[in-house]
Amino acid sequence: MTENIVKTLVWVIIGLVYLISVKYENSVVFLNVGQGDATLIQHGTTQILVDGGPDMSILYELPKYVPIYDRKIEYVILTHSHDDHLIGLLEVLKYYSVDTIFYYPGCNKNENYEYLLQKYHNLKEVSAGDTIRLGDIDMNIIWPVKGEDYGVCYKPFDGDINNDSIVVDFEYLGKKFLLMSDVETPAEEVILQGGLIGSNYDTLKGGHHCSNSSSSKIFLERVSPSLVICSVGEGNSFGHPGSETVQRFKSLNVQYLVTYEEGNIQIK
Ligand SMILES: [Zn+2]
Repeated sequence: MTENIVKTLVWVIIGLVYLISVKYENSVVFLNVGQGDATLIQHGTTQILVDGGPDMSILYELPKYVPIYDRKIEYVILTHSHDDHLIGLLEVLKYYSVDTIFYYPGCNKNENYEYLLQKYHNLKEVSAGDTIRLGDIDMNIIWPVKGEDYGVCYKPFDGDINNDSIVVDFEYLGKKFLLMSDVETPAEEVILQGGLIGSNYDTLKGGHHCSNSSSSKIFLERVSPSLVICSVGEGNSFGHPGSETVQRFKSLNVQYLVTYEEGNIQIK
């Protein structure tokens, strides 16, 4: 009996030592969450999560990068209200404590979005020109530029919710990242014309799951990414990544990786 207790204790201690000794590397991880988006910025025991994917699969991916004893994700950014970005975030909010949920209140109707707005009171509105700061990471909000104020929400850019998506860039680990969420060409053009965006990015998360309606040639030439990530589910009905966009990557000699082929893509 005593021997069994000792054995159990030894295994518990080994388990604890293992959990504590696992090295959680500072990194940016494009999580493979199927047909949706979820990007984790992991920095010690602090994190920013940009979108959560379409379902609860993110709950299986996060513990691979977030220390298991760390039950807090400091900041969450909901880029826009579509379910392939939002539903996984609602799951994360159930199981992790979150300091602040950043969002842009463009006018639109969506049941899950309404639920988020009603249930959570730690939401903070952001738009172009704002900065989200975590430790030494400054995340610059590039888009959307605020539309006309309708009181409870802002006038949509062109009626396509994708084009009201939050776009961010930041430097981390000596690299420049640009996350385009689901922004498509009409908004890309305004972003370029307004000089809102930089160039020579190391990693670009391709807009709208690398659909044909995003990542125009002129846009790619301007941001000149070394690597593009396409966050895409296998066999999706949308035809993402778009064949024309893939062709543009190839003709510009831009390397691209697709999450359903690579799994989680960790940039260190
Ligand atoms: Zn999407």
